[in-house]
Amino acid sequence: MITPPADGEKITIQGDKLNIPNKPIIPVIEGDGIGRDIMKATRRVIDAAVEKTFGDEKKIVWFDVYAGENANAKYGEWLPQDTFDAIREFIVALKGPLTTPVGGGFRSLNVTLRQVLELYACVRPVMYFEGVPSPVKHPEKMNVIIFRENTEDVYAGIEWAQGTDEVKKIIDWLNSTFNLSIREDSGIGIKPISITGTERLVRKAINYAIEKKHSSVTLVHKGNIMKYTEGAFRDWGYKLAAREFANETISEDDLWSKFDGKMPDGKILVKDRIADSMFQQILTRTDEYDIVCTPNLNGDYLSDACAAQVGGLGMAPGANIGDHIGLFEATHGTAPKYADKDMVNPGSLILSACMMLEYLNWDDAAKTIYAAIQETIKKKTVTYDLERQMEGATKVSTSEYATQIIKNMK
Ligand code: NAD
Repeated sequence: MITPPADGEKITIQGDKLNIPNKPIIPVIEGDGIGRDIMKATRRVIDAAVEKTFGDEKKIVWFDVYAGENANAKYGEWLPQDTFDAIREFIVALKGPLTTPVGGGFRSLNVTLRQVLELYACVRPVMYFEGVPSPVKHPEKMNVIIFRENTEDVYAGIEWAQGTDEVKKIIDWLNSTFNLSIREDSGIGIKPISITGTERLVRKAINYAIEKKHSSVTLVHKGNIMKYTEGAFRDWGYKLAAREFANETISEDDLWSKFDGKMPDGKILVKDRIADSMFQQILTRTDEYDIVCTPNLNGDYLSDACAAQVGGLGMAPGANIGDHIGLFEATHGTAPKYADKDMVNPGSLILSACMMLEYLNWDDAAKTIYAAIQETIKKKTVTYDLERQMEGATKVSTSEYATQIIKNMK
């Protein structure tokens, strides 16, 4: 049994909202491989920013919980029940990357955590820091937050391999029942998209847009081809906005039919784009997009494509969020060949922890970190991944990069 620290308090749920004490206990999964390097750096940066911003008034009380290699070494289990219980009980947690154990009976520890804790929204903000090498002319125009559905679509993992008895049964049944002619040598995957899964995601995205004062929510789908899954996602999204957020949102149709194309003050525009067009528009009309809401597979492609425009995965944060629980984590993996070398970029995890601070409504501490990262990058003191692409830059270790960020906090 692990014991939570005695000097902190529990985050609680009050109605729809979280009640955040001044000294919240936050479970932390260090992670495997480079997780060990980047988590140490991240905790230092977060602690320093909270102290700089709030003095003695607020403090995060970290609670180390076990998952991955350290759990396996200590308990002989990759994901102990204690860890699930701690995240459920303390509601907000920070996580480093975890190895997928070979033959451990898991598809992935990360997917298991998301599924068991019902973390249905994968939230990926993509923002630009001046000076980071980018393949596009105006990376500063990118500032989106992608809400990607986390439990349905291809992520549901309903698949049968070619040549198996199961796939033969499915193909025979489909061909005979629906008069189809699916080739006998096919593999089959099923793509479910439900009203339940769509509505809770779109509701979360619109609520976020309202709370943090964003201007638009774009539903990205491939509904021209997959009418009853992706097309339905679009239709259910619009219907939910009209039904539950009639005062706060307007649709793009209404914008033209009722408002002559001029956005009324204080409203959020709900629009939709077909996925292939969205990939063009995010390059050509980057600053027209703000909050983006999408089924799983589109979101998978789109988040990495957007991240590439602002300097790659080393800078891309993420979170997996359910009705209340928020698990904040780096978007990259454990990069085993760099583990324990104090070398890699902790940016993704630090920015994920900034999202966590915003989730606690400690936005000012997150702003302190954004400004300090910007200053550090401007001074060209960066880790190897950025240094090799930046002329005249100084290469620093993971821990030194964190030290520089802390020094640059104002
Ligand atoms: P990876 O993201 O771990 O690494 C790929 C490459 O990206 C690295 O070799 C390195 O060159 C670069 N890279 C990654 N993070 C970096 C950082 N912070 N700074 C600088 N460079 C960085 O992907 P992989 O090699 O495919 O996966 C390794 C392991 O991580 C696997 O076991 C996989 O299952 C796991 N994984 C975990 C998560 C997660 O925990 N969310 C996500 C992806 C992969």
